[in-house]
Amino acid sequence: MDVIMVYLFIAGLFFGSFFNCIANRLSKNESIIRPGSHCENCKHELAWYELIPVFSYLFLKGKCKKCHTKLSVWYPITEIITGFLFALSYLKFGFTIETIISITIVSILIITFISDITYYIILDEVIFIGLIIMAILMYFNAGIEGVIKSFIGCFFIGGVMMLIKLIGDKAFKTESLGWGDIKLSLIAGFILGIRLGTLYIFLGSLIALPFGIASSFKNKSRIIPFGPFLSVSLLVIYWFSPFFYSILNILLGV
Ligand SMILES: [Zn+2]
Repeated sequence: MDVIMVYLFIAGLFFGSFFNCIANRLSKNESIIRPGSHCENCKHELAWYELIPVFSYLFLKGKCKKCHTKLSVWYPITEIITGFLFALSYLKFGFTIETIISITIVSILIITFISDITYYIILDEVIFIGLIIMAILMYFNAGIEGVIKSFIGCFFIGGVMMLIKLIGDKAFKTESLGWGDIKLSLIAGFILGIRLGTLYIFLGSLIALPFGIASSFKNKSRIIPFGPFLSVSLLVIYWFSPFFYSILNILLGV
């Protein structure tokens, strides 16, 4: 166990807490800075010891100190997941810029996951700022050529998703893909490029399929957010790109 990994895990817990705040507040058009963290129910302002990721939740037994409203168990869960994904990024890529790129992607995906599941929203700000940060990191990692190549992938995969939406909307006479899914796919295309980006669309659809079928049996309103499935697909393909490249080669008969 590396000390950097432990550090990244702990940093991830705090970032996870911050991502919860970003996803919840920006989705509701609230400021991320003011007011300070408070209970959603009684507006009780949280003291520093109520803001420690995971531990505060355990220590408060999952309830607001003042009004005893239950706090969502998803807060500590997303904090822990963020911690793990930060640490795993380092385990995967070591002491390289790639690790920072991976952490940036994890951050974008965690916020997207929360906002899409809770509010059916994928935030413009997160995608836009994410692309800028990734472009800067890509410049340091692969030079201006790398940046240009990434943006070609970005617009290609974004374009493919837009085409799927146009055809899907016409065919099903309802919104097939949300604009958020297209925005998220800009990130995917940027980091995965054209070939792996195409695979990302397939894999995302494949993971979503059983959930889509299950929810259409359950009730008639078949709205399930696609973003979380696309997020999983993106991260898995990005982390295991050599494996997916070899699958592509087999599929294409190269
Ligand atoms: Zn309260």
